[in-house]
Amino acid sequence: SEMLSLSGVTKTYNAGKPNEVEVLRGVDLTVSKGEIVGLIAPSGAGKSTLLHIAGLLDLPDGGTVQIAGQDMTGLGDRPRTAMRRAGVGFIYQFHHLLPEFTALDNVVLPQLANAVPEAEAAERALNLLNKVGVGKRAQHRPSALSGGEQQRVAFCRALANRPGLLLADEPTGNLDPETSALVFDVLMGLVRDEGLSALIATHNLELAAKMDRVVRLDQGRVVAV
Ligand code: ADP
Ligand code: ADP
Repeated sequence: SEMLSLSGVTKTYNAGKPNEVEVLRGVDLTVSKGEIVGLIAPSGAGKSTLLHIAGLLDLPDGGTVQIAGQDMTGLGDRPRTAMRRAGVGFIYQFHHLLPEFTALDNVVLPQLANAVPEAEAAERALNLLNKVGVGKRAQHRPSALSGGEQQRVAFCRALANRPGLLLADEPTGNLDPETSALVFDVLMGLVRDEGLSALIATHNLELAAKMDRVVRLDQGRVVAV
């Protein structure tokens, strides 16, 4: 069955104004349970817009967004925000870890915000950090970690609340090619291990080839590669 389903999704910025941009012109895209889909898009093609709509950060002008079979399009702000916080994990090119907290606490805090008891949150966090090979760095602040280690911690934070769906925008884009390939494999392993569905945007065709399926955003539509 499907974890994410976008159907006929349209989005135009500055509609009716001279600077109108029609970004999405009817996007159809599904990500099945446990599937990892790569999204390739030239810069400016609407990749961020698509990920924001899929992640319930932004609303489409038309079409529908379903997560885990539930239609999100007609929902109000509150249930949509609730689904985003509990059901969707985000990873960006830059980690956005909280600099004054340890790696461990960066993975614990989102769970506390989700009312998980502290001991349970710490156990989950350490388990995740161990899985991506940074368990020994749990008590360090982000600034004491390498770029690759920081990004691994960001993966753990995104998965801390056990979302069903992971959305990633160039998750290893700020790393050198060698580290990028290594850290990307760690991410793939983690996603598989946790049984997640994922939509991962990348410019890197080598990384895209590691995913189950690759699609391209072209002229406002999603096409198979
Ligand atoms: P990508 O992530 O593929 O680079 P974006 O989704 O960020 O593309 O943007 C697609 C197009 O929409 C670009 O032309 C961009 O300038 C425009 N755009 C993005 N966000 C806004 C916005 N909030 N207001 C107006 N135009 C926007
Ligand atoms: P919080 O639970 O801390 O209030 P939000 O509900 O605002 O967080 O956001 C949930 C997720 O969406 C977080 O992973 C956050 O990084 C991401 N997010 C929130 N707003 C934006 C935005 N404008 N652009 C990109 N990502 C965002």
